[in-house]
Amino acid sequence: MASLETLSAAHATLLVGILLECFLALGWLIAAALLPPMRAAALHWAGFALLQGGAFFLYLNSANWPGFSVLAASNMLLVSALLLQLRGLHLMTGRPPADLVFLTLLVLTGLVQWIWLAPEQAMWRIAAVSVLTGGLCAWNAVALLHCIRQENARSHRLLGLLMSAPAVFGCTLLVLRALFVLLDPAQIIRDDRLDQSIGMLAALGWLFLSLSMALALMGVVLYKLQHKLSEAATHDALTGLPNRRAADDFMAQEALRAQRQGTPLSALMVDIDFFKKVNDQHGHAAGDHVLQTLARLLQERARATDLVSRWGGEEFLVLLPDTPPTGAHELGEQLRQAVQSAPFVWQQKTVPVTVSIGAATWSSGDFHANTLIAHADGALYQAKNSGRNCVRLADDSAAGT
Ligand code: GH3
Ligand code: MG
Ligand code: MG
Repeated sequence: MASLETLSAAHATLLVGILLECFLALGWLIAAALLPPMRAAALHWAGFALLQGGAFFLYLNSANWPGFSVLAASNMLLVSALLLQLRGLHLMTGRPPADLVFLTLLVLTGLVQWIWLAPEQAMWRIAAVSVLTGGLCAWNAVALLHCIRQENARSHRLLGLLMSAPAVFGCTLLVLRALFVLLDPAQIIRDDRLDQSIGMLAALGWLFLSLSMALALMGVVLYKLQHKLSEAATHDALTGLPNRRAADDFMAQEALRAQRQGTPLSALMVDIDFFKKVNDQHGHAAGDHVLQTLARLLQERARATDLVSRWGGEEFLVLLPDTPPTGAHELGEQLRQAVQSAPFVWQQKTVPVTVSIGAATWSSGDFHANTLIAHADGALYQAKNSGRNCVRLADDSAAGT
């Protein structure tokens, strides 16, 4: 490497790259320490940054080690870095990493370096490595997209595209490089040489790609964290159902729609009968299992437009947009029967479970969520007083609440 005073612009770019990659690796290590659920992925991305930095370092020093094939070693580091990035993304999405394929690709990269090591065969080596790394960039882009879409398949399409853009861009550049080196080898190989510099454009492009991919990874982590936080705020940890807060939001939204369209909005308050006995006789864990099984059952039976939420301890609120009192009563009855005949099994023992359900409907006038809930609660009270395991409709449901 030249002295600092005579450093070429390309060398300086690589030097900055090494420093930035070291900082990035440190950042990922801190993230791994602070975010236990993302530790494995963050450690992989620390490795990604370090290997990238290592590849920059090799290029920077290639003039100092004439006997050593710097390009081959640097290519190996680059491919390993991309594989680590990909493996981290797979771990993040909870997929089993395709280790056998990764290993095969690494061996293939090694073979390509070895077979076409001679300078006169550089054209083939550059083309093959460009295609390999380009393919890995494309695979990374798909994994990034999957990571974002895993949380919500419908929205955030734009965000997914934005996050995967650097990898797509990298893939395009590398495939073009492979094409150009086959069409005009002299030009690319001259640019690629490191006798004085690797070419300002190539160094900058490489650094830009590496940093923008790291930024995309950070974006994915922030997105996942934000999603986890909002999940925790709006969902019940035991059953995974929307909680009371989410049900309130849903009710407010659906009430506006119902008022605009003049359609009724119904609510079913579902309460497990003698649930205290389940806890007392079978233990609290059995009670939790019953709650989880019931939550699944209610969700399976409800329509996609309905909302099943955990309202409180052993009470579930089912909100039914565009449903008149007769429809609400009918669905309530179906749910009651389904619960009665469902097998609730805990440690090979059947736990008999029944529910009482109070139904109420808003159909005209001002909407007050509290009033709708109070009516459903009142109907539930009647159901309990009528011997339980039955559905009762709030008296004034037919006329609106
Ligand atoms: P009723 O038929 O009148 O509704 O009687 P009940 O026993 O179901 O009602 P009660 O309100 O007396 O008892 C509700 C019980 O639900 C008491 C509480 O310990 C239990 N419970 C509330 N939340 C949970 C939970 O998350 N897990 C478990 N296992 N039990 C819970
Ligand atoms: Mg209760
Ligand atoms: Mg109860």
